[in-house]
Amino acid sequence: MTSTAPSRSPVSFPFLDLRAQYVSIRGEILDAVTEVLDGQQFILGPQVEAFEKEISLFTGCIHSIGCASGSDALILALLALEVGRGDEVITTPFTFVASAGAIARVGAKPVFVDIDQHTFNIDASEVEKAITPRTKAIMPVHLFGLASDMNKIQDVASAHRIPVIEDAAQAIGARYQGRAVGSIGLMGCFSFFPSKNLGAAGDGGMVTTGDSRLADKLRLLRVHGARTKYDSETLGMNSRLDALQAAILRVKLRHLNDWSLARRNNALGYFELFREFRVETMITPPAPVPGSVHIYNQLTVRVKEHRNALRDHLKERGIPTEIYYPKPLHLQNVFAYLGHRLGDFPKSEAASREVMSLPIYPELTEDRQRAVVAAIADFDQE
Ligand SMILES: *Cc1c(COP(=O)(O)O)cnc(C)c1O
Repeated sequence: MTSTAPSRSPVSFPFLDLRAQYVSIRGEILDAVTEVLDGQQFILGPQVEAFEKEISLFTGCIHSIGCASGSDALILALLALEVGRGDEVITTPFTFVASAGAIARVGAKPVFVDIDQHTFNIDASEVEKAITPRTKAIMPVHLFGLASDMNKIQDVASAHRIPVIEDAAQAIGARYQGRAVGSIGLMGCFSFFPSKNLGAAGDGGMVTTGDSRLADKLRLLRVHGARTKYDSETLGMNSRLDALQAAILRVKLRHLNDWSLARRNNALGYFELFREFRVETMITPPAPVPGSVHIYNQLTVRVKEHRNALRDHLKERGIPTEIYYPKPLHLQNVFAYLGHRLGDFPKSEAASREVMSLPIYPELTEDRQRAVVAAIADFDQE
């Protein structure tokens, strides 16, 4: 439904350009990888320990426990709290499947609370109503790189003596009222999936906590519950961060603040371009939240009408976009057994219909940003 026939794309670029980042640090990465290969210590060991210490410094959490993925970080955190069958954990339905998936994977029931329509995060003022005697944890997700409303969540949680597990998989480096995400709840869970702001060359994850007893348990759980070899004291799993990944992540962590700054500058650039091209009648950018430092793992706008047609129009012009997330978790088959139906979480459902994420990676050039917004501006509805 466009007024002009698509011409040959003046631009064409990826939604996320991981190669651009790799090229800028190739030498450092290859040196780090070579060091691990020369040492032949692949499971845990000095690289993992050093990276854990660096994440502790970065987040302000005393303990950091590396594991195999962000999904495993969530599972390990729940296992450390002995959450299981018959228990409930409160989370949001507008997130990646791993958040509620981890809850279900340990045998507990995900209890969904709808989102705040401005932040896309769990509506903290609705959490208390969802608490029952079976509630064993609250799992806010800092979606797209913006912290959830942690003061309200912590207040409700501590009034009911319920621990908070932060799903900070998308939010490493984000801050909430001066504090690093992942250090506010009892435990924080991070992912180093390649598309996250601190991405490995494969999978990786981390749990952070200030609680020494939990940290000890987490270290046990990731090695089959064995404190000494071949003598397990509890049922654990195999979930370690590879030494190779740790070595690569250590290199990248040194650049993370610069990359976060570049993402934030790109976001500001977009906001200016939205005004310049007068597209704010068509799309709503995320509103800044006072006291929060957003690190824009995604720059997600709301498209008031014809989201899918706009997306097709952009695609024809070589502009990449993504939809995070097209279907809220309560409507996905995996959670059909919970018995939810369309209309149960209307704000999450509306978000799934209206959101569109724009390229925001640190290396994104001004020209490309301008091309994105210009292409949005020439989307004409007949
Ligand atoms: C990526 C992600 C996870 C899972 O991390 P993996 O490392 O891919 O297992 C969990 N929660 C959220 C919100 C995520 O975006």
